[in-house]
Amino acid sequence: SSDRKQSVSGEEGVKTKPKITQNIVFVASEANPYAKTGGLGDVVGSLPVVLARRGHRVMVVIPRYMNGITDKVYGNALDTKLRIKVSCFGGDHEVAFFHEYKEGVDWVFVNHPSYHRPGNPYGDNFGAFGDNQFRFTLFCYAACEAPLVLPLGGYIYGERCIFLVNDWHASLVPILLAAKYRPYGVYKHARSVLVIHNLAHQGVEPATTFGNLGLPPEWYGALEWVFPTWARKHALDRGEAVNPLKGGIVTADRIVTVSQGYAWEITTAEGGTGLDELLRSRKSVINGITNGIDIDEWNPVSDRHISCQYSVIDLSGKAECKLALQKELGLAVRPDVPLVGFIGRLDYQKGVDLIRSSLDELMQDDVQFIMLGSGDPDIEQWMRTAECNYRDKFRGWVGFSVPVSHRVTAGCDILLMPSRFEPCGLNQLYAMRYGTVPVVHGTGGLKDTVENFDPFANGGEGRGTGWSFSPLSKEAMLGTLRIATQTYREYKNSWEGIMRRGMERDYTWEKAAAQYEQVFQWAMMDPP
Ligand code: ADP
Repeated sequence: SSDRKQSVSGEEGVKTKPKITQNIVFVASEANPYAKTGGLGDVVGSLPVVLARRGHRVMVVIPRYMNGITDKVYGNALDTKLRIKVSCFGGDHEVAFFHEYKEGVDWVFVNHPSYHRPGNPYGDNFGAFGDNQFRFTLFCYAACEAPLVLPLGGYIYGERCIFLVNDWHASLVPILLAAKYRPYGVYKHARSVLVIHNLAHQGVEPATTFGNLGLPPEWYGALEWVFPTWARKHALDRGEAVNPLKGGIVTADRIVTVSQGYAWEITTAEGGTGLDELLRSRKSVINGITNGIDIDEWNPVSDRHISCQYSVIDLSGKAECKLALQKELGLAVRPDVPLVGFIGRLDYQKGVDLIRSSLDELMQDDVQFIMLGSGDPDIEQWMRTAECNYRDKFRGWVGFSVPVSHRVTAGCDILLMPSRFEPCGLNQLYAMRYGTVPVVHGTGGLKDTVENFDPFANGGEGRGTGWSFSPLSKEAMLGTLRIATQTYREYKNSWEGIMRRGMERDYTWEKAAAQYEQVFQWAMMDPP
């Protein structure tokens, strides 16, 4: 019915605990602090804890990556001694389960040698791992077994649970429930919710690999995917492929995206990356729920990574952070110059090519600019070169560093996010909480969360928490940045108003958690 459309209010449920509690099983390829490459890790690191606090029984299943760097965070997870055999890819593969109970959540780690290698969860310096389809197929099988076999805290979760499966890596779970369990009477009362954090990654592989997945042949149609003609490699290529994310979209009981704007965008031809028609057909089960943030990890009042803590009542610490950051990175130490930052994966999605083509022009102004990111080697190389060209104005910090990301967030005046598309985006939320004013491309979650500054609203008091520009062009970006830096320089009161409004917003996960509970209830009411 229409009230189940894209907006879930959840308003009533925020303060009170839910009447009905569930057994919830998160399945994901990352969870902070065990493994994180982006927003997915942040969400799966914090939402489960909030749901557990609200009375649910919550398990999170992720692979146990051993890469020599993150190994130590798995230190407290113990081997459950439980082993299962998974049949796929033409053989039986033994996986083990490790477990740690922390912050009210059962963190379960699937152990297999294919998760033990240097790099991030998906690849290394040479690109994506060639066997990711195997690694995540194995993972999905194991995740389906976990609630049935693991006696956590003395007893299993059992069949009556809700699987919250995230992105393509976990998308086989709803398919396995339907193809491998329900026909035998198992998981009849279980439901699955697919959370789409990024539609751009779908796990597509050649159609000939379907047999490896161990699914009954009649399930081919659910995963079948045909590349558009332009994407085919040669005349004989019929473009046939298997697409696990597509299978998840077809099979999951409910679909959630990480903002309402993105929920709509993915049903359009521009934003649907080939899945828009299918997503339109499933519109009645799609909801957008904007991510919260971990307000303990991202709190200027208590942040251990920054040189001086501060709050909305006393902003002087932020000025200290700015000077410390300029000093740390060897920029000219100047309190008055607008300091602009960028943090993120160096990827086409993030609009870094636009920054690159605008930098020479931007550097004509009296501003400083810091970029923190890793990814596209081309862009990394360009950042190093640009640093030489603009010694006291530009810094390109190539790499992934959580402490530096905190210091950039706290020390900058402005955070620039010219993302081409952005399912939710977290950095603009962190920035606002730290009194750093976001300048964003008006897309997806960025548009939903950054309120455009209007100096005349509220009887001259002003309204808004930043700037959102559109279209995505060099002119629009530079023009808006210039309005922002001019406001910073010339209208101190307005600027402080923008900072304060951003800092005072509610970023807790409670509202989102209540909205997820609403979706769980709908899923439970739907016939399987
Ligand atoms: P996405 O998931 O598309 O990468 P989000 O904005 O949702 O984008 O989340 C990105 C997360 O990753 C944020 O927590 C951000 O601070 C972090 N991050 C991205 N790049 C870096 C980096 N180079 N160093 C530290 N943290 C980073």
